[in-house]
Amino acid sequence: MPRIRLLPDDLINRIAAGEVVERPASVVKELVENSLDAGATSITVRLQQGGIGAVDVIDDGCGMDGDDALLALERHATSKLHEHSRLDAITTLGFRGEALPAIAAVSRLTLETAESDGEGTRVECEFGQIRDLRPIARPRGTHISARDLFQRLPARRKFLRSQETEFRHAVTLLTALALTRPAVAFLLIHNDRNVLHVPPARDLLARLPDVLGARHAQEATPISHHRPPFHISGYLLASRRARQVTLAVNGRVVRDRFLTAVVHRALRGASGALEAEGFLHLELPAFLVDVNVHPTKAEVRFTDPGTVAGALTAALAASLVRLRRPTEIRRLVTVPAAPAPQPQLPLSYPPPAPAPSVAESAAATPPGTPPCTPLGRLLGQYRGTYLVLEADDGLLIVDQHVAHERVLYEELLARDEHAPMQPLLIPAVLELRAEHAALARELAPALASLGVELEPLSGTSVRVLAAPAGLGPELLHDALPALLADLEAGAVPGETIRQKVAAALACRAAVKKHASLSRPEAEHLLARLARAANPHRCPHGRPIVLRLPHAEIERRIGRG
Ligand code: ADP
Ligand code: MG
Repeated sequence: MPRIRLLPDDLINRIAAGEVVERPASVVKELVENSLDAGATSITVRLQQGGIGAVDVIDDGCGMDGDDALLALERHATSKLHEHSRLDAITTLGFRGEALPAIAAVSRLTLETAESDGEGTRVECEFGQIRDLRPIARPRGTHISARDLFQRLPARRKFLRSQETEFRHAVTLLTALALTRPAVAFLLIHNDRNVLHVPPARDLLARLPDVLGARHAQEATPISHHRPPFHISGYLLASRRARQVTLAVNGRVVRDRFLTAVVHRALRGASGALEAEGFLHLELPAFLVDVNVHPTKAEVRFTDPGTVAGALTAALAASLVRLRRPTEIRRLVTVPAAPAPQPQLPLSYPPPAPAPSVAESAAATPPGTPPCTPLGRLLGQYRGTYLVLEADDGLLIVDQHVAHERVLYEELLARDEHAPMQPLLIPAVLELRAEHAALARELAPALASLGVELEPLSGTSVRVLAAPAGLGPELLHDALPALLADLEAGAVPGETIRQKVAAALACRAAVKKHASLSRPEAEHLLARLARAANPHRCPHGRPIVLRLPHAEIERRIGRG
């Protein structure tokens, strides 16, 4: 039998790190929570390479003295819980004393702290080993810097996603934390660029524009529901697709399954087909909730889940009535760069090549009737939605939207990645949500290869500098935010990011149902469809052409 042995401390810490420090965003979460527990009024988060390179959190909180600075890096060292503390009345975000040692075990960590302006302490720690301790001069507060995350744990590091994905997780988290504490100022800097600047606000409502952007804040339905002993606040925003509602309980951002299920049920029940996203903060007396059930405290347990569910459902029902549908086309701020009017862009991209000659395709049509398209003779448009053609073996019914979608998709993908972009006369500035701005940066190379050039501006804005012909600025206004929302949902297996972006762009750009097409427009579209590598299905898999064989028509009509 092997003997039971105590694990060495650094191994315990690395195991704990697995639970507490999943990814850079978890480091941000733990450090910012510590800053909030320290009573900070202003917190700066600085990330390099999505946090994989470095996470710095700087606060103006109560700080630590030299002894505590060292102790803080010891496992189960906490100032927040004492021998006589009641575990059922925890009001701080931390209490287990696990986070700092866990982070220190998997990074190069520097801790600088002072209890008042002037004399402070600096501790340097390398993958769990304290390397240096010295007095320094600094202002009151704490600055913790964790660099080279998981460098000594290659297996762990491999599981991290791209910098931009990691960064997006950090933004989502910080946005939620900022909503739980309106009075605290937050600044997020990524790769030396200010990304999110949230000044102190009176309450959640006043904070919304800084977190969501003015436009979304205007569209959001605020929630403030008081039902003793519960208080529920937050906002909901109608969205085109199922989206997560971020949840917080007593200032703690949680991913609680029970609460999520309650929210989803309420949304489904009340809003029909309308989807919503948003943020809900549930506040209740500390003794009615147990936060000590999950390693990262992401789940909580309620003494009386039934009444919690009831209060949440009531709060949601009251707000859902007021929920507004998203505006179909978001008109965003445009910066006039030139006085010239925007020219009408052609529906096609690239500019149409000459259609195949009649001789090339005459075999497909009855003799004597020259086809007006390679697929057959265009008879007309049915219900403003389908193009009806006479082919040699029957009738063809072409769905104009999916046909156009397929054509645009293939043309976008066929675009030479190095082809010059078509600059917009009037570059458009799009105001995006922080996560979408991060995603836009992540997708910038894929978009550029498709002819969409974006320039990230400060904060959450991006400027569209160029668009493929046919995807005018108007369309991009609508397409880009929607596209980013689509892409947020994750990739379809087997699909590259470029294909996914192209499919989403094509879908947004294609002619819609009930749009009348002139004969030349319809013929042009059919000619392009005939050239498509796959003229049968749209990029999402919907069939494009319905074929009614002549024999079947005859049979049904009673002639066969
Ligand atoms: P916990 O938050 O569960 O107490 P941590 O490992 O996160 O455990 O932190 C350990 C201790 O270090 C905290 O209890 C607190 O006393 C101290 N500490 C950590 N971060 C800060 C900070 N930013 N300002 C002041 N004290 C801090
Ligand atoms: Mg903590």
